[in-house]
Amino acid sequence: MEERFMREALRLAKKAKNLGEVPIGAVVVVDGKIVGRGYNTRTRMQLATAHAEMRAIDGACKKLGSWRLPGAELYVTLEPCPMCMGAVLNARIDRVYFGAYEQKGRSLTAELANANLLNHTVEVMGGVMEAECAAVLTSFFTEMRAREKAKKTEQPLICAESIDSDEK
Ligand SMILES: [Zn+2]
Repeated sequence: MEERFMREALRLAKKAKNLGEVPIGAVVVVDGKIVGRGYNTRTRMQLATAHAEMRAIDGACKKLGSWRLPGAELYVTLEPCPMCMGAVLNARIDRVYFGAYEQKGRSLTAELANANLLNHTVEVMGGVMEAECAAVLTSFFTEMRAREKAKKTEQPLICAESIDSDEK
């Protein structure tokens, strides 16, 4: 595990945040080099599969000209969902390092990693730079809730104005 790779995943997560996407970033590393980068673009692309991990794995496969990525490591800022763990297994990635834990506990990460699906098992290590990875997500959702609250408090004012003008 090398922190510099998680740092790069964090940089990508912040890029997603600046675009108004849930901030999740990922990199694929082979032989100590980044061969794929990705960040969540689900909203912009309106694509259910546009998770950071999928985009990083796609990039690595394209770069290396192979659907198999033996010896590869995936660094991702949030615990991967089952779809992304499926992609990890399909790409024969050896190790996954993730930052923040999925709080709702519906990731099935350990189960999928050890299920020997496709005759492949993945080594998973969670909680890498957990505080930093979680902070990016927390600040995104706090800001989003604040924006929504601001919107909601604006609403009655608009209604009040329109009632006023109707009465005139
Ligand atoms: Zn995913």
